[in-house]
Amino acid sequence: MLVDAHAHLDKYGKGLAPALGEIEQHGIFTWAVSMDLPSYERNLEIAESCGLVLPTFGVHPRKAPDYASRLAELSPWIERSPAIGEIGLDFHWIGDSSQYPAQRKVFEYFLAAARDQKKIVNLHTKGAEKEVLDLLERYGIARAIVHWYSGPLDILRALADYGAYFTLGVEMLTSEEIRHIARAVPLGQLLTETDNPGGLKWLNGTLGMPKIILEVIEQIAAIKQETAEAIVRAVEENFCRLAGNDPWLAEVRV
Ligand SMILES: [Zn+2]
Repeated sequence: MLVDAHAHLDKYGKGLAPALGEIEQHGIFTWAVSMDLPSYERNLEIAESCGLVLPTFGVHPRKAPDYASRLAELSPWIERSPAIGEIGLDFHWIGDSSQYPAQRKVFEYFLAAARDQKKIVNLHTKGAEKEVLDLLERYGIARAIVHWYSGPLDILRALADYGAYFTLGVEMLTSEEIRHIARAVPLGQLLTETDNPGGLKWLNGTLGMPKIILEVIEQIAAIKQETAEAIVRAVEENFCRLAGNDPWLAEVRV
C-alpha cells in the first residue's frame, strides 16, 4: 500500500475523476484533509466513491478567523471525523499577526478534542514550529503527523523526540534544503504526502496528480540510501503503527 498522508482532494474540481483513477490504479491510501466545513463535506462525498480515501475534518490556520467565534458548531463534525486535520498555526505565509489569536484559539480547540477523543492530528506548522511543539506537549497529544516540515532542524529533532511523524512530499523533488531536512527525519517516523493538487502547482505551476507520490518515494530512497520498495514498506509500517487500533484503518485495508 502506498500512503499519501496529506492531500486536498476537494480542490481538484473537474480534475477529480482522473485523480481518483490514479489513486485506484496505484493503490494509494489517501488522507483527504479539509480546510473548513464546506471542504470536509466535499471530502466526505468524494470518499463515498473511493474506499482508499480517508476524509478528515480540520480548520486550516488560514480559515481560523472564520470559525474562532463559533467553535461549538465544530464539535459534531470533529466527533464524526476519524482523525483530525488540517489544523495548526501559520506565522509565515500569514503575515497579518492580528489573525494569530484566532489561529491559536481554533487550533487549541481541536487539540483539546483530539486529546479527549484520542485521534491523530495532521498538522500545519509553517513559521510556528516551536509553538506547535509546545502545544502538543501541553495538550498531551500522543499521535501527530507534521506535514511538509520546513522549519529549523533543532525543532524537528525535538518534535521527533516527542514522537511526531513527518510527511515528506513534492518539495523533495526540487529543494536541497528540504532534502537536508529529510535526512534528519528518522526512517521509523517518516511518511509520504503530495499536498495535491496545490503542492506541485505552488512549486512549478502544474496540477499535482496522485502518482507523483512515486517520484517522492524515489527521492526519499536516494536520500536514505534504500530501495524504493524499502521506503514503501517503512512508510506502510509507520502508518499502521501510528494508526494503532483505530477502526478506520481496518476498513481501508479491506
Ligand atoms: Zn495542506
